[in-house]
Amino acid sequence: MLVEPRHFTLTELATPELEDGGWLAVEATGISGADVQVWKGDAADVLYPLIPGHEVVGRVAEAGPTIPFPVGTRVVVEPRIRCGECHRCKQNLATCVRRKPSNSYGFIPSSEPPALWGGLAELLYIDPAARLHPLTDDVPAEVGTFVHPLAAGHTWAVELPSLQPGENVLILGPGPRGLACLIAAKVAGAGWVGITGLTHDKDRLELATRLGADLVIDAEQEDVGGAIAGAVGSRPDIVVDVTSDDPEAVFTALDLVRSGGRVILASTKGNRAFPFLSDVLIAKQLTVRGAMGATSVGYQWATKQLETDPRIDDLVSHQFPLSESSRALQAAAGLLGREELISVAVTF
Ligand SMILES: [Zn+2]
Repeated sequence: MLVEPRHFTLTELATPELEDGGWLAVEATGISGADVQVWKGDAADVLYPLIPGHEVVGRVAEAGPTIPFPVGTRVVVEPRIRCGECHRCKQNLATCVRRKPSNSYGFIPSSEPPALWGGLAELLYIDPAARLHPLTDDVPAEVGTFVHPLAAGHTWAVELPSLQPGENVLILGPGPRGLACLIAAKVAGAGWVGITGLTHDKDRLELATRLGADLVIDAEQEDVGGAIAGAVGSRPDIVVDVTSDDPEAVFTALDLVRSGGRVILASTKGNRAFPFLSDVLIAKQLTVRGAMGATSVGYQWATKQLETDPRIDDLVSHQFPLSESSRALQAAAGLLGREELISVAVTF
């Protein structure tokens, strides 16, 4: 349990008799950039104490009548719970207002019964409205956690921008979700995919090349626009911003995308304001879409892709036991070094 920023305690909680929903025996939980923000205390609207972790893989341990899978089924749980009745859910938005500050695993405070709302615990409460996707037993649990970034990659690089075969895609940021965007765009038939990173992302950019990126760009050493012009000779149809908290990336995206192109913004900027010239949207007739989390379509695609794509084994580079959750968060934050860092999981 994260009692305050950067302070975990190992806690035992009673598991009440359930009237509805079920329990998931957690096998592994991936650690994302959003978890790092919660751990550091940088995330807006987070109430402590809470159990972090929303990239969960586990087995159904107890199932009430609303759980559509029998006990023992291995599943991934979508982080965002949608009650289906609030105004946001009715508009098919990801941000259900049924629970405050956020109806999402890993972000619901422990004061909300039954307290077990995060993946860094042996048991997770399966809300009756939670969406579960069965996952093959053939992959290690830590590899299974990559379903979560992979689902977001499909949502952001393929589904939301309506990627058509042959189109060119530029991805800003080579973290787990950026690499997932690359995999999803390639599988969907993108003609060309480029990906940018910083100098400390060297190992992630090398992995991007092995995953089929047509161009990898160190944005600290090279001019991104010049590198793309030299490599492909035309501007990308779609740019996806998946950087870690980099406001400049928004300008890069709007500047580099072709006229009439689509820009997907999937990375928050810590609520910071920055000067913005909106004329470029009009002059280039751009479509800009804010994206939050993955859709159920993304999860359906990602669970299938994981079963057939052995390259994904390489994408979970670090694993830690639950007792070393602090180190897992430090590793995901890059504080233990970035060499060979791709993504991090806690395993049980
Ligand atoms: Zn709702």
